[in-house]
Amino acid sequence: MTVRPLVILPDAQLRLVSEPVTEITNEIRTLAADMVETMYDAPGVGLAAVQIGVLKRVVTIDASKDETARNPTVYLNPEIVWSSEEKRVYDEGCLSIPDYYGEVERPDRVRVRYMNLDGQIVEQEADGLLATCLQHEIDHLNGVLFIDHLSKLKRDRVLKKFTKAAKRDAA
Ligand code: ZN
Repeated sequence: MTVRPLVILPDAQLRLVSEPVTEITNEIRTLAADMVETMYDAPGVGLAAVQIGVLKRVVTIDASKDETARNPTVYLNPEIVWSSEEKRVYDEGCLSIPDYYGEVERPDRVRVRYMNLDGQIVEQEADGLLATCLQHEIDHLNGVLFIDHLSKLKRDRVLKKFTKAAKRDAA
C-alpha cells in the first residue's frame, strides 16, 4: 500500500466527473488500498479517487474516529438513493482544501447504494458524520467541492487564497 500525493485546489482535475468502475481488477483493488492508506496518513475520514488524481468512482471512508480499530469502507460507484427532509449543519473540511473549514447544510440521513470490492451491490443507511461524509465524497465524483455549498463570497475568497498559494509554490 502506498500513500499517494493529494490533488489540491485549484487543480482542474477536482472539477472533472469520475468514470464508473465496470470491473473489479487488481488495479482497482490497489487503488482502494492506496486510498485507505492515504486517507489515514493525511489524516482524514474520507477520500475520493479524484483526490489522488484517479478519475474513477471510488470512495473510502472511516467515520468511526477510533484510531485503535480501523474500519474503512470502500464504496464503488456510490449513489444516494434517498435523503431525509431534515437537514444538519456540519463544519466540513477537505483534504484537497487543507486547513479550511466551512459550515455546510445537507440532509441529515441518506441511503446509499454501492458496489463493494466483492462485486456485491450493497445499500447502507447513514446518519451523522457518516451521512455528511458520504455526501461530501459523492460530490467529489461529480466534480463538486464543499466550498460550492458556501456563499459565493466565501468561495471566491478561498479560491483566491489557494490560487495565490499555488502560484507561489510554482515560482
Ligand atoms: Zn473533500
